[in-house]
Amino acid sequence: MDFVEQLKSSVDIVKTIGEYVRLKRVGSTPRYMGLCPFHNEKTPSFSVHMSHQFFKCFGCGVGGDVIKFVMEMERISFMEALKLLAERNGIAMPKREYSDPESKLRGALMEMHETAAAAFQKNLAASSGVEARNYLSGRGVSPEQITEFGLGLSDASGQQVIRMLEPRFAPEQLEVSGLVMKRQDGSGFFDRFRGRLMFPIHNESGKIIGFGGRALRSGDEPKYLNSPETALYHKSHVLYNLHRAKDAVRKADYAVLVEGYMDVIGVYSAGVRNVVASCGTALTNTQVRALKKHSGRIVVNFDPDAAGANAAERSIQMLLDEGFQVRVLELEGDLDPDEYVKREGAEAYRGRLEKAPSYFHWLADRARKKFDMRSVEGRMQGFKFVAPSIQRIADRLERFAVANDVADYLGVDEKLVRDHFSRGSAGRPSVSRGPVVPPNERLLLNALLVSESARAEAIPQLRTLAAVDRFVTKRIFVAIFAMETPAFRFADLEGRLADADRDLLSAVIFADEVLEEEKAHQQAQACLRSLQAQDPKTELAALRAQIKTAEREGKIEEAIRLASELDQKVRSQAAMPRSSIQA
Ligand SMILES: [Zn+2]
Repeated sequence: MDFVEQLKSSVDIVKTIGEYVRLKRVGSTPRYMGLCPFHNEKTPSFSVHMSHQFFKCFGCGVGGDVIKFVMEMERISFMEALKLLAERNGIAMPKREYSDPESKLRGALMEMHETAAAAFQKNLAASSGVEARNYLSGRGVSPEQITEFGLGLSDASGQQVIRMLEPRFAPEQLEVSGLVMKRQDGSGFFDRFRGRLMFPIHNESGKIIGFGGRALRSGDEPKYLNSPETALYHKSHVLYNLHRAKDAVRKADYAVLVEGYMDVIGVYSAGVRNVVASCGTALTNTQVRALKKHSGRIVVNFDPDAAGANAAERSIQMLLDEGFQVRVLELEGDLDPDEYVKREGAEAYRGRLEKAPSYFHWLADRARKKFDMRSVEGRMQGFKFVAPSIQRIADRLERFAVANDVADYLGVDEKLVRDHFSRGSAGRPSVSRGPVVPPNERLLLNALLVSESARAEAIPQLRTLAAVDRFVTKRIFVAIFAMETPAFRFADLEGRLADADRDLLSAVIFADEVLEEEKAHQQAQACLRSLQAQDPKTELAALRAQIKTAEREGKIEEAIRLASELDQKVRSQAAMPRSSIQA
């Protein structure tokens, strides 16, 4: 068995996917369902099959084995997915064969970031870090928080990081690391971050992939300097603190979204562990989907300034488009979350969080302030102010419910509301469902996939069954026939199929109860008999036609051979028991 097979057979796909997606077992079957992490949906169409070690989304079409899942989820290469799975499951990875240039570079970049982060932390703890430490304690950041968030200080000389990295890494690697910059005269590199308070940024697995650097002296521009895009760091994919927050997000079934590093640290320290930050920009849909894997509910708590409100507005639209239930926390006194926690205390903040109104009620409150709620026109204007946002709710029923709720809240007649919201729901990705697989084919395939003995017995008979030629799943059967031995695994079969047939196969395996070996054997036989019983007329007619053609063309030997085949078929069918299964 090669390493990939060995890895796949020792990794539990349900457990691995379960770390990203909440899965629910379907009865006592080996099938699990959940909300797809790759597209926005309200009802689960994402399925995982434990015994076939396979996943498939019937909404957006993505599917495959556990390695494919990790590749898609973490946006990493095949080799990196192997490495990650091996690491997480304590499986030793054969070194030489499994390194490609891409993952080699990323591995080098990760080492560089580890090295830099350790140096930054040392600097902050050293005597030269006193100014930075004073700044942090002035902002209420404790030594424990400094340690927990791995805060550091970049050396002002611009020489520290490059001196550590230069002996260990190639110039081509240094150049794309994001940690150093090339001198204009071409005489080497210098540190990108100099004399800044350093916030390490982690990916969802907790590896450092970039930094945010805050200026400590007034006049140092910009105030925040972030890592550039690198092979590791894609700004639009990353949410600050998600690796620490994700378990808490699941537990609380909501996330708290704030704007910056300091807000995260302040709120997290107030015991609100489910907090993440977008780091100054409006959310992207990649970030939103990263969150959606853990919960579909969120409280948006952005800074009250205009930039904050703008980012909040755009983020909220993105969240609604992705099907999130959004609440808005607006803190009184124009305080950002970090300041609020410090001034009012952790408990006060948590209380405000709990009472945060839904986005639509928050909008309706703004409308109330904006329009004259005493007149019918004013109330209608208020409603029209909220309506475009309600229109964005993807789910039709929920859209109506929210519209009625807000209309009620603003004192608007529900009848006037209805025509606003009678349009169809927003476009959703969908795969063509493909042809319907008749029960006999479906049951037969499922039985064959479960039982090797069923395969051993049924495959030779199926090879001569003319009906297979008319199967919707013909190409799947042909692939099964092409296997050298009946002792194959599901993945072997799946790997031989084109996309359309893979979809068909997924539809088949997720359609029925999976059988015990013994029952599978019986089911295969019953299906086979049923198919054979249906087959004769067409099969015999085809044979008779072939005989006629052969005779007409003067191929007498051929005609005789066919005639004896026909004779055999007629006899064997007369002796065949009737099937209990009807198509
Ligand atoms: Zn999907």
